[in-house]
Amino acid sequence: MATEEWIEDAQRYLMHTYARFPLVLSKGRGTRVYSRDGREYLDFVAGVAVNNLGHCHPKVTVAVQKQAQRLVHTSNLYYTEPQTLLAKALVTHSFADKVFFCNSGAEANEAAVKLARKAARPAGAADRYEIITTAGSFHGRTLAMISASGQPKLQAGYEPLLPGFVSVPYDDVAAVEKAITAKTMAVMVEPVQGEGGVRVPNRDYLRGLRDLCDRHGLFLVLDEVQTGIGRTGRLFAYEHTGITPDIMTLAKGLGNGVPIGAMLATERVAKAFTPGSHAATFGGNPLACAAALATLEAILDDGYVLDNCRRMGERLVQGLRGLQQKYPVINEVRGLGLLVGLALTVPAREIVAQCMQRGLLVNATAESVVRLVPPLIVTEEEIDQAVAVIDAVLAAQEGHG
Ligand SMILES: *Cc1c(COP(=O)(O)O)cnc(C)c1O
Repeated sequence: MATEEWIEDAQRYLMHTYARFPLVLSKGRGTRVYSRDGREYLDFVAGVAVNNLGHCHPKVTVAVQKQAQRLVHTSNLYYTEPQTLLAKALVTHSFADKVFFCNSGAEANEAAVKLARKAARPAGAADRYEIITTAGSFHGRTLAMISASGQPKLQAGYEPLLPGFVSVPYDDVAAVEKAITAKTMAVMVEPVQGEGGVRVPNRDYLRGLRDLCDRHGLFLVLDEVQTGIGRTGRLFAYEHTGITPDIMTLAKGLGNGVPIGAMLATERVAKAFTPGSHAATFGGNPLACAAALATLEAILDDGYVLDNCRRMGERLVQGLRGLQQKYPVINEVRGLGLLVGLALTVPAREIVAQCMQRGLLVNATAESVVRLVPPLIVTEEEIDQAVAVIDAVLAAQEGHG
């Protein structure tokens, strides 16, 4: 079938929940993906900050192949080796004492909210269930998570929303403090707002929130679904700040593309979950855990990946700031590690489409922001190549007035 026919069939049989580009991808290697007609693209989307080690990383591929031959799924009625090994690795390399596995970011955040609610009201305690979240935040697409997210466009048409979430401006500790009531039990934020347009908060924001949570007896919940697993140049973004959360969620980069989510917590909080409290049929299945374990090991192996992420992130930001001198359409360049946003004064989607024409995949978020989240193994040449494509696209745009 021709590419057009594949797209026609997709439109006939799939629900229209995505505004897709007319591209059918069939293969990926490292920082490159290939369309079914054989065209090569430099991939600065990486499955939306998922393929942190690039496409089909040999260590992850071999781990999946081996595990698929041994045992794919068992349910959580029994123990398996990969799930235990992955939990141990995550605990060893984080603030956490305990891990719960699920299959996505939204599901990890659901688990976080359920755990926080349960831990905040032991039998007989006053009714504390409210969580303070932030404007522009994104926590997933389930009913509870669109209720938690600070983006009205995610909520429209799905009312009534779930009660128990209070939204305040992002990067504003005083606003959180003002919103605290007798019902408040947690503050939930992203260390960098990803979907909200790559918004990097002030250096002391998380420290301020930690301090506030300590003074008021609240849980600090960090949604590291996008920032986690090396994306910002540290294994977890909270490591930039010197503080630790009570609960943290992971998903996107965790399995390098194999679906898996995780919710991590300190023992003090985690002990509120007892047998029967929460469950997921597929959660932490051997195949997903083998992929995630191989991913973690490859990222931590020699420190190269995290170091490269920091250096390439700086190079990308510098390159884009160079373009900012040339093109008034660029409002701001911001980022942490390889989570980088190019904020424009115009809608980003047209720029994204033009980059695709020239062989570079990037993604538009928050209407006017081009998000660049390449694999963390990206090279200097590839960073420069991406900047050159954006340069050419903006030059052509200007030419068209
Ligand atoms: C992507 C994302 C989610 C949702 O993850 P899904 O796997 O799509 O459910 C939640 N929080 C943040 C910060 C994200 O970036």
